[in-house]
Amino acid sequence: MSFLLPCPQCGPRDVYEFRYGGEAQRRPAPGSPRSTWTAYLYDRTNAAGVEDAWWYHRLGCKRWFRAVRDTRDNTVLKSTAPTVPPRDANDPPGD
Ligand SMILES: [Zn+2]
Repeated sequence: MSFLLPCPQCGPRDVYEFRYGGEAQRRPAPGSPRSTWTAYLYDRTNAAGVEDAWWYHRLGCKRWFRAVRDTRDNTVLKSTAPTVPPRDANDPPGD
C-alpha cells in the first residue's frame, strides 16, 4: 500500500522512497541487564493504531526522522527531525 510520508527536509514523498527503521523507543543505559537489551532489540508492540517510528529517506536527503502514523490507515499525524545525530547512516539515531 502506497501513501505519502512527509520528510521534514524534503516534504511529502511516496513511502517507497523510505526505509522503515522500527518503533521509536528509548535505548537502554550501558550496563543494563541482558533481558533489557533483548527486549529493546527484539520485542515489538506492532500496535494497530498510532505508532511513533523511525524512517530513513533513502532516495532523498538520506536522513533519519521520526513519524507518528496510524497503522490502520497510514495517516501520518506528525514527522520530526531528530535532535540527536545518527551514529551511522544505516542505524536510526538513539534518543
Ligand atoms: Zn528527505
